[in-house]
Amino acid sequence: MERSAVERLEAEAVNSAKSRQPLYAPRKKIFPKRASGSFRRFKWLVMVVTLGIYYLTPWLRWDRGPHAPDQAVLLDLANRRFYFFMIEIWPQEFFFVAGLLVMAGIGLFLITSTVGRAWCGYTCPQTVWVDLFLVIERAIEGDRNARIKLEAAPWSFAKLWKRVTKHLVWVLIAVATGGAWVFYFADAPSLLKDLFTLEAAPVAYITVALLTVTTYVFGGLMREQVCTYMCPWPRIQAAMLDENSLTVTYNDWRGEPRSRHAKKTAAAGESVGDCVDCNACVAVCPMGIDIRDGQQLECITCALCIDACDSVMDKLGKERGLISYATLNDYQANMAVATGNGTHAIDPAKVRAPSGKLSDRIAHFHLRKLFRPRTLAYFGVWSLVGIGLFYALLIRDRLEISVLHDRNPQFVTLSDGSIRNGYTVKLSNMIPEPRTVTLRVEGLRRATMTISGMTEHAPDSAEVELAPDRVKTLKVFVALPKYATAAEAMSFRFVVEDPNGGETAQGNAKFQVPGRR
Ligand code: SF4
Ligand code: SF4
Repeated sequence: MERSAVERLEAEAVNSAKSRQPLYAPRKKIFPKRASGSFRRFKWLVMVVTLGIYYLTPWLRWDRGPHAPDQAVLLDLANRRFYFFMIEIWPQEFFFVAGLLVMAGIGLFLITSTVGRAWCGYTCPQTVWVDLFLVIERAIEGDRNARIKLEAAPWSFAKLWKRVTKHLVWVLIAVATGGAWVFYFADAPSLLKDLFTLEAAPVAYITVALLTVTTYVFGGLMREQVCTYMCPWPRIQAAMLDENSLTVTYNDWRGEPRSRHAKKTAAAGESVGDCVDCNACVAVCPMGIDIRDGQQLECITCALCIDACDSVMDKLGKERGLISYATLNDYQANMAVATGNGTHAIDPAKVRAPSGKLSDRIAHFHLRKLFRPRTLAYFGVWSLVGIGLFYALLIRDRLEISVLHDRNPQFVTLSDGSIRNGYTVKLSNMIPEPRTVTLRVEGLRRATMTISGMTEHAPDSAEVELAPDRVKTLKVFVALPKYATAAEAMSFRFVVEDPNGGETAQGNAKFQVPGRR
């Protein structure tokens, strides 16, 4: 038989059509069961506090006098001011906001390197709003089993009523969320009235509509899909964890081999771990995952599985902590005990003392493990930025001056031979009170100053009225007699002073003369 000239190799493309996995797995609907326990209580507390701050802050008042808004927290885009209680930030002071963002970023690193994704599990807006939407869902449709039953049931009036009510309440929450956001940008009571009387700016309605849609879709419909597929943080956070970071961990060194019939299995002489395979930890998980499969990108470290498993352990009369916050180091140390340093499969008997309690050789988390070079370095940088910002806040000027020399012409020779330069001088009164300041020229002998629009003032100084919280722009001319000019441009300064408050500011300037640049 004639042999083919071409040899066929045993090879298959890694993405061949017959073995290719879909990039996006179809969603399996999750029906998280209500958990109870200390972590759940802590999450309730965080939820109430964070939602309370978000919804109520725009309604807090702060008296700044008659010349400034009385809203405690206000981002006044029209006037380019940010008010935060007693602090008022001008655009040129935006570095304070940038500094706070830097602190938030470093704080996130610090938190993640110590307690894992605590941000995701407790305070991320997505987590908080999903939690809130789940409260509504449970109140209307019941807990996990009732919701699964309702989902499977054919459409009826009762099902339709529950579904419509649930979605209606979700939409109301979403509208309130979008509404609360715009109140941060204008006087909240006035804007609320304007929104209802259809007198608010179109941008306000567009913002409310956008946030309503995103809150409803992300919090009500997409839920865990946002964390798994849309959020970059799960990918980034892996770089911040180390072997001493706390993460929610299934302690298989004491849980395996799991058995639903632990007594029978033990009676048959087989080793059996503490996990009774009840799936309580899976049922409460808002991400729908099984922590017993190990660390997963989807786990937001909400610790509800800890609460669920602790309840099971309580019922079984065993120590809590089969699922617990643990570091990788502790986990590996305990695993080494259970497996004889990897020489055999997990033997639960190895981790127990003759009394049945966990052996003294088992490592437990200790607070001192939080204090390690990495976390101390994060904390040090975070504190330094914070102290720096605080110091800058304490010493910042509330009276500023900026000087811009006229570009064309740079000087004018007057009929008597004297030389005149023109400047645009901006005086910023950064307090919500009017004040009268003195503007003068310093460092230029025999200089006379005239201000456009002001006739009565001394030759080298002037009293200037400043409106509260405003910038005043002056056209200022400085002149030197012919005989007083030097051969080169001369440096001098404009000084502004508040005689009552004692504040001063100065702006450097140059006096240009003929023949020089
Ligand atoms: S596995 Fe546990 S900690 Fe992770 S998301 Fe699920 S319930 Fe929360
Ligand atoms: S809740 Fe605890 S005992 Fe039940 S399956 Fe989960 S880990 Fe095992």
